[in-house]
Amino acid sequence: MSSRRKFLKTSLLSSGALLPLSLYADNINFVNPYSSQGPLLLSTWNHGIPANEKAWEVLGKTGSIVDAVEQGVMVTESDLSNLTVGLQGLPDREGIVTLDAAIMKGNGACGTVSFVRQVKHPITLARKIMEETPHVMLSGEGARQFAIEQGLEILPERLSPEAEKAYKEWKLESEYKPIINIENHDTIGMVGLDKNGNLAGSCTTSGLAFKMHGRVGDSPIIGAGLFIDDEVGAATATGLGESIIRICGSFLIVELMRQGWEPQKACEEAVKRLIAKNKDINNIQAGFLAINKEGEVGAYSVHPGFNYAKHDKKGNFLIDSKSKF
Ligand code: ASP
Repeated sequence: MSSRRKFLKTSLLSSGALLPLSLYADNINFVNPYSSQGPLLLSTWNHGIPANEKAWEVLGKTGSIVDAVEQGVMVTESDLSNLTVGLQGLPDREGIVTLDAAIMKGNGACGTVSFVRQVKHPITLARKIMEETPHVMLSGEGARQFAIEQGLEILPERLSPEAEKAYKEWKLESEYKPIINIENHDTIGMVGLDKNGNLAGSCTTSGLAFKMHGRVGDSPIIGAGLFIDDEVGAATATGLGESIIRICGSFLIVELMRQGWEPQKACEEAVKRLIAKNKDINNIQAGFLAINKEGEVGAYSVHPGFNYAKHDKKGNFLIDSKSKF
């Protein structure tokens, strides 16, 4: 074969253009030899309670941990009282709501969407990207177009009444202050383990309130806001995305667990690293959640106020995380 033909063939193959769906990462089935104390679901903040509730129900019905983590956080995306997740969330500096989301399975399959407008369920779009395309991330208008092609629900671009009120108040001063309000319940990140040791996770947010137009946080960045590995465990993050991206927080936690750290110690180490790498730490809140394949749990944040919902066979409980300060 001529070298040009070889090159074309290789690049088409690596772009996925000629691959049948069965060869996309999500369709590779691994036999999972790992242990489990599942089912177990963990979600950030108190909006994790209804999200876990739904995810638990879905897991019971379908047995699929990826269905569970997708449909669980869809509850939060649809919650009109939530100003930090979904299209009712707070807008950017221009008054436009843009959403970020990611989904990942323990076999390495993942899909993410960033800076997308008008898509009611960005987590479902992330899953479509994982399952129906050769790519990991779609962004902006391209992501929206793909959502339309896939028949996902698209809503008119209109601020929710509460978001509009907050935006008008913010515009009076119009200062850019990237401070996460720890009372504001932020992103939802969910990690789950099924009874067979399969892990999956999801993460969805409207991002930092009044961010610059085009800003993307940690949530759709695999390894920052979410990372899952069936061999080891799973981690997700919430809080100021920039601080989490700088330390590749979720990947760091999973890699520490791979080296034998307990999930709690791994989350504490990530917070320690985050504090070391970020200036103005008094104004930065970030929190991490982790589980390992044995079903042990970790949670830790920079400042007090972070909590999470844990659902296992005993029930669905809201738990306060420990914090560094
Ligand atoms: N992590 C999200 C972001 O930076 C926001 C949050 O969790 O509050 O976009």
